[in-house]
Amino acid sequence: MNLILLGAPGAGKGTQAEILCDRLQIPTISTGNMIREALKSGTEMGQKAKAYIEAGQLVPDEVVIGIVDERLHQDDCKNGFILDGFPRTIPQAEALDRMGITIDRVVDIHVPDEVITRRVSGRRVCLDCGNTYHVETKKPLQDGVCDRCGSTLVQRKDDQPETVQERLRVYHDQTEPLRDYYEATGKLLVVDGQQDIQTIAEQTLALLKG
Ligand code: ADP
Ligand code: ADP
Ligand code: ZN
Repeated sequence: MNLILLGAPGAGKGTQAEILCDRLQIPTISTGNMIREALKSGTEMGQKAKAYIEAGQLVPDEVVIGIVDERLHQDDCKNGFILDGFPRTIPQAEALDRMGITIDRVVDIHVPDEVITRRVSGRRVCLDCGNTYHVETKKPLQDGVCDRCGSTLVQRKDDQPETVQERLRVYHDQTEPLRDYYEATGKLLVVDGQQDIQTIAEQTLALLKG
C-alpha cells in the first residue's frame, strides 16, 4: 500500500503515521523529520532549509523532491510506504507522478484552523526518533521524555503562534489544492481529524480496506 497523508500543519499526520506504520508494517517517510535531521546534523541541505522552516515557508520544491525520490527507491519501500508531509505543492505531486511509483490512496485528515492552533501550541517532539506528543492529549509516560527512545522532548521553534499563522496561510494557498488534485484521481479519502487519535486510525484503516 502506497499511501499519502494530507492535512494542515498539526492535523495529526505524524501521529496517524506512527500508528499506521505499525499496523500496516510499512515505513513512514516524513519530509519534516528528514529536514529537521539535516538541520540538526548541519548538512548543506539543512543549512539551506533553515531560513524557510523558521519563517514558516516551504523549502523549495527541487530540494524536497530530490530527497523523496532517493528515499522512495530504497529497498524498504518496496512493499509500501506512508508519505507524511509530501507532496505539499502541485509541482511536488506532479514530480511524484513522474517517479514511476503508483500511489494507491490519499488520506486527508480534516481539522479546522481554530483547532490547529491549540494542537500545535501543545506539541512536543523528539528530535532523535521523530515521535510526537502533546502536553494534554498525548502525554509521554514520563514528563519531557520520549517513550520510544528516552531523549528529551522539545517544542519546535516553528510551532510558535506567529509562525503557525504563516504556515496555515501557506497550507491554504499551496497544499490545500492537492485535495482537488487527488479527488480527480478517485484516490482521496477524507477523515474527520477532530476525533480521538485511535478512532481516527481505526476509521482510516477501515476506509483503506473498503
Ligand atoms: P507539520 O507536521 O506541522 O505539517 P512538518 O514537520 O511536516 O510540519 O514540516 C515542517 C517544515 O518543514 C515545513 O513548514 C516546511 O518548511 C518544511 N517541509 C516539510 N515538508 C515539506 C515539503 N514537502 N515541501 C516543502 N517544505 C517542507
Ligand atoms: P502533523 O504531523 O499533521 O503536523 P501531529 O501528528 O504532530 O500533526 O499532531 C499535532 C499535535 O496534535 C501533536 O501534539 C499531537 O500529539 C496532537 N494530536 C494529534 N492528533 C490528535 C487528535 N486526534 N486529538 C488531539 N490531539 C492530537
Ligand atoms: Zn524519541
